[in-house]
Amino acid sequence: MLDADFFRRWLTNAADAVDRSAALLTELDSPIGDADHGSNLQPGFTAVVVTLEKEAPETPGAVLTLAGRQLISTVGGASGPLYGTLLRRTGKALGDAAEVDEATFTEALRTGIDAVAALGGAAPGDKTMLDALMPGVDALGTSFGAARDAAREGALATTPLLARKGRASYLGERSIGHQDPGATSAALLFDALAETAEN
Ligand code: ADP
Ligand code: MG
Ligand code: MG
Repeated sequence: MLDADFFRRWLTNAADAVDRSAALLTELDSPIGDADHGSNLQPGFTAVVVTLEKEAPETPGAVLTLAGRQLISTVGGASGPLYGTLLRRTGKALGDAAEVDEATFTEALRTGIDAVAALGGAAPGDKTMLDALMPGVDALGTSFGAARDAAREGALATTPLLARKGRASYLGERSIGHQDPGATSAALLFDALAETAEN
């Protein structure tokens, strides 16, 4: 069973991963965006960790909704509302249970990802964060490690795609040949999840 501490550790590991990869995320955002993805996310995830420590929410749902609200209020750019919605809607779907099993979490995360798709109007294959989030959640029924691998593959597979949403879409054909920064950060969330489950 996964408790509030598991989700707090997940987001702390995610913040560490974003911190380590901030320069890479910004670099990926430079040919097909505005070179700010790492600098958008890094302070947002740091603020999430600080808020979780201060407010100490006691259920998985409360941890994720608080984290989502913090991201929405801290992160500028498209990725703030999108990741904020992901966590907030996943948290809402978990309700107020003190612990949740992996299948319940998987379904809740799917609800959160569907909310991201609805908010951004993107579908898989549009070269966005969804291209890592969708395969990640699909593999989560197998294991956390399988989800990590699938999300990573999904992020790498954005390189040959033509961007249809977000800033990269303004480039049309010139977006081809570059890995999507948001899909790359989404894969980090699954990395952090697997890391949390292993420790
Ligand atoms: P901005 O583009 O506003 O500078 P970021 O650089 O932080 O925001 O985030 C860019 C990432 O957000 C993209 O790489 C993409 O994965 C994701 N993204 C942008 N628009 C959308 C959308 N409409 N739906 C889903 N993801 C999107
Ligand atoms: Mg950007
Ligand atoms: Mg920007």
